[in-house]
Amino acid sequence: MNTMDYDLLVVGAGPAGLCAGMYGGRAKLKTGILEKGVPGGEILNTDMVEDYPGFLSITGPDLAAKFESHARKFGAEIIPDLALEIYSEGDRHIVVGEEATYRAPAVIVTAGGNPRKLDVPGEERLSARGVSYCAVCDGPFFEGQDIAVVGGGDAAVEEGTYLTKYARKLYVIHRRDELRAQKIIQERLFAQPNAEVIWDTVVDEIGGDQRVENVTLRNVKDGSTRRLDVGAVFIFIGFTPNSNIFRDHIEHTEAGYLVTNSLMESSIPGVYAAGDIREQLAKQVTTAVGDATTAALAAEKYIEAMRHEAAHAAPAAAG
Ligand code: NAP
Repeated sequence: MNTMDYDLLVVGAGPAGLCAGMYGGRAKLKTGILEKGVPGGEILNTDMVEDYPGFLSITGPDLAAKFESHARKFGAEIIPDLALEIYSEGDRHIVVGEEATYRAPAVIVTAGGNPRKLDVPGEERLSARGVSYCAVCDGPFFEGQDIAVVGGGDAAVEEGTYLTKYARKLYVIHRRDELRAQKIIQERLFAQPNAEVIWDTVVDEIGGDQRVENVTLRNVKDGSTRRLDVGAVFIFIGFTPNSNIFRDHIEHTEAGYLVTNSLMESSIPGVYAAGDIREQLAKQVTTAVGDATTAALAAEKYIEAMRHEAAHAAPAAAG
């Protein structure tokens, strides 16, 4: 398998990866961003972004396209490959991809994560048959039907509000009596006449023959169960970081988030993490690009220091 050398490798092309790539390019580092899918990450699944400063309102895909062209403008290369493994060899880090092997003194991991699964009967069997994790992608298929959303965080409430424009009736099923979502996001949901929150309730089963037809609900306070007829279930119950390939050798939390210092450096010198894969308070585009900026500038200094050291070690070694 070919081995290709870069100054800086970025794993994942969401907002954090594209921002890190932009800064890598601006620093005149030979920068490669590994991304098997479409660049843009999670915001590709978001209808409108309205909390990214400078854009009062922009669609997720439009913002992703701007991030991508910005990274490319400064010379970052987007490599269509999937990272399978990462390890260190001397002062180089090796990223093994499906297509080739890549080597660089510094790596920024911006691999994000995936929506968490409910793990109830019917979820897997009816996935893409009414069970969905992306409102923008699948909402229009359920126009005029009753739709359930599971979760009570920003994603569930925001995507639920979005789905009210397709749903005849939109149910948000939440396991507590209080939503976790930001108040401003909650208010928009409560303003929709066709939205209803079903409190203190969990989904025990998703039913249907070829497609979703109903969900079995259980009230966690009194244990009562009932069946609710819906044509689709959208699940927004959080996020699992894509850190599997790093877990055995990079410090991480129990939930799999990579732990970094204030320079975004992981427990391995020269390996940085930014965005949703990193342990932090919020998963916002703003925090992802903030992390990525710090990581890229720190990586630049790290590479410079390494080159400086090598240049000064070389004459001594020669003499
Ligand atoms: P989250 O904030 O972790 O919320 C997950 C929600 O799902 C919580 O309400 C949780 O209930 C519920 N939940 C978890 N496991 C469950 C289970 N097994 N069964 C039923 N309910 C379950 O996740 P998120 O909403 O995906 O957001 C992730 C991050 O992205 C957050 O940092 C969020 O702020 C950010 N985000 C921001 C925006 C925005 O600002 N516009 C939009 C989307 C996401 P409990 O409340 O009881 O724990």
